[in-house]
Amino acid sequence: MKPLIVANWKMNPQSLTEAKQLFNSLKKGIKNVKNVEVVICPPFLYLSQLQTTNYKPHLGAQDVFWEEKGAFTGEISPKMLKDSGCKYVIIGHSERRRYLKETDEMINKKLKVTLKRKLSPILCIGETRKERGQGKTQTILKNQLKKALSKISAFNIQNSKLAIAYEPVWAIGTGKACSPREAKKSLDVIKKVISKIYDKKLAKTIKILYGGSVNGKNAASYIFEANFQGLLVGGASLDPREFVILVKAVSRS
Ligand code: PEP
Repeated sequence: MKPLIVANWKMNPQSLTEAKQLFNSLKKGIKNVKNVEVVICPPFLYLSQLQTTNYKPHLGAQDVFWEEKGAFTGEISPKMLKDSGCKYVIIGHSERRRYLKETDEMINKKLKVTLKRKLSPILCIGETRKERGQGKTQTILKNQLKKALSKISAFNIQNSKLAIAYEPVWAIGTGKACSPREAKKSLDVIKKVISKIYDKKLAKTIKILYGGSVNGKNAASYIFEANFQGLLVGGASLDPREFVILVKAVSRS
């Protein structure tokens, strides 16, 4: 399975000129990299301004709304994303759960419309520091998955290529990555839950990504040692040098 590396730029950079510079540096750096699929998720405003060549890299969005059109001030529909060249969309990032109070029910609705419109969703799940401390990681992952995937058919998942990102909230942006050994335990739980909701065959086709303080040094260990099929990268994706090192390290694995 080709590893999937997703760059989440979050609310950066602050101008279109900088966004273009960053995008072009990344594009140039990964031009000859094989065996890795790279997705760049800039803020909405920049999407239609960034030109990819042969989907190297793909474009993705950081969010989507659950309705298809109408009176929803400030929101962006799946069709608008497709029209701007997007193939992927991040759904349920912990920062949206925290600051925008996104619930599992909202995430479920976003997943449904995304799959219906044949965009590939990257569903983010993960436990907080407190939940980890209380030994609740497995329960949290199970609940988030069950609720997010409620009433979604296996057919829709396969058709639109769902990916799941395991992102321990305590590891995001902290420089304290979850060890590949600990992350592997969560990967196993995720596979098990998917096999239970659907079946083992389908579970094998879903890419499970790790995210949380990934950099050029630790990236390959999640693929090599822990068997993740990709990475979700925040901070390191804003530094073209670091990001290209990271992508190349995974491509060698
Ligand atoms: C993220 O926000 O999804 C993320 C993984 O951020 P960082 O790589 O900066 O920890």
